[in-house]
Amino acid sequence: MPVYEYRCKQCGARFERRASVHEHEETKEPPCPQCGSGQTERVWSRVAVLAGGRQPSSTQGGGCGPACGPGCGNLA
Ligand SMILES: [Zn+2]
Repeated sequence: MPVYEYRCKQCGARFERRASVHEHEETKEPPCPQCGSGQTERVWSRVAVLAGGRQPSSTQGGGCGPACGPGCGNLA
């Protein structure tokens, strides 16, 4: 089951939300759990954004970002 990350445009809080395969096709964002605002947007995870097959240790919040190039020594 995929987990999507969202960011609140009001208070900047980030939160995750599990989505089923069916919800995957929907575009509605969940409300912010902190301020209740509906002004949230999905934040694409680094794993999803990365192209090229490499998978950084995103679960550990490493320093490897989307702008990471071949010179990055953060390979697992
Ligand atoms: Zn908020």
